[in-house]
Amino acid sequence: MAYDELKNRVHRANLALVEAGLVVLTWGNASGADRQAGVMAIKPSGVAYDKLRPDDIVVLSIESGQVVEGAARPSSDTPTHLHLYREFASVGGIAHTHSTYGTSFAQALREIPCLGTTHADNFYGAIPVTRALTAEEIGRDYEMNTGKVIVEWFRDGGIDPGNVPGVLVASHAPFAWGPTAEMAVENAIVLEFSARMALNAMLLNPRLSPIAQALLDKHFLRKHGAGAYYGQERTR
Ligand SMILES: [Zn+2]
Repeated sequence: MAYDELKNRVHRANLALVEAGLVVLTWGNASGADRQAGVMAIKPSGVAYDKLRPDDIVVLSIESGQVVEGAARPSSDTPTHLHLYREFASVGGIAHTHSTYGTSFAQALREIPCLGTTHADNFYGAIPVTRALTAEEIGRDYEMNTGKVIVEWFRDGGIDPGNVPGVLVASHAPFAWGPTAEMAVENAIVLEFSARMALNAMLLNPRLSPIAQALLDKHFLRKHGAGAYYGQERTR
């Protein structure tokens, strides 16, 4: 089939979320895009992870949202993923989880402050919370509107989604992304660990300030952007 490699990668990304302890039951999904082909592949709706096979992964046109390969119904969160791929050109993979600590911050309507270098290696500053959806936005095209409030936060704030590759949807849970499905999963894991460590740090010191700008710059910019030098030569 035409999209076997993409489906295999997205299948592995979905299983990786479970292995990392970020997803229980069916509360989560990962997708990946093939920008040249103009498609994205995503988990089918309501399929248990232990039953999930690469051939169950559904491939859709990013532009039209039509299924181009796969017999199953795509994840109910598909319109959110499609909207993010349409609006964030640099995104090649998305991971949505209801991971415990990230979701706790989302439910508390609190951003995850950047308190240390673990967070700063992958996120250039706090991981924000969106505004709440209105009753109208919930009543009609809810999943698409979830994508819209995410994009709205980054547009209005002038924030590059490549620098802050994740967000907390208010009263819901985290979405993370990256240039590939694998990097989206990594960022979802870093988001969860950062939330957990931030909560512990704030309990230990309630008057804590965010990480020093110089240290944030050092850790993020040595791995990302034009001056990056961390790790081996590769495209991230
Ligand atoms: Zn969700």
